[in-house]
Amino acid sequence: MSLVISILDIAETQAREAAARAINSITVEVGALAGVEIEALQFCFTAARRNTLAANAELRIAEIPGQGQCPACGRISPAETLVAVCRRCDDGVLEIKQGRELRVRSLNVD
Ligand SMILES: [Zn+2]
Repeated sequence: MSLVISILDIAETQAREAAARAINSITVEVGALAGVEIEALQFCFTAARRNTLAANAELRIAEIPGQGQCPACGRISPAETLVAVCRRCDDGVLEIKQGRELRVRSLNVD
């Protein structure tokens, strides 16, 4: 829930800076490894958007897949968990490079 409030805070601040009257949609990047449940996020958003500039806004989710680099061979592999092993070496633990994102990417305002 606090996550959604901070998304709304960021969105409202940006909308006010743009002198917008209403927010039509908010696009949020959510990494697959960010530990965020999309359904829960949508549910909380619907509850929290009341009485904000985003009262009628749609929450759009841009999912970012997890990806990591092997420290041993340098290969970039998909990572489905925060601790993932290189598929080539089978023992190199990937350094996560992508998938922990959680940020407001863009707004559509009136
Ligand atoms: Zn490797």
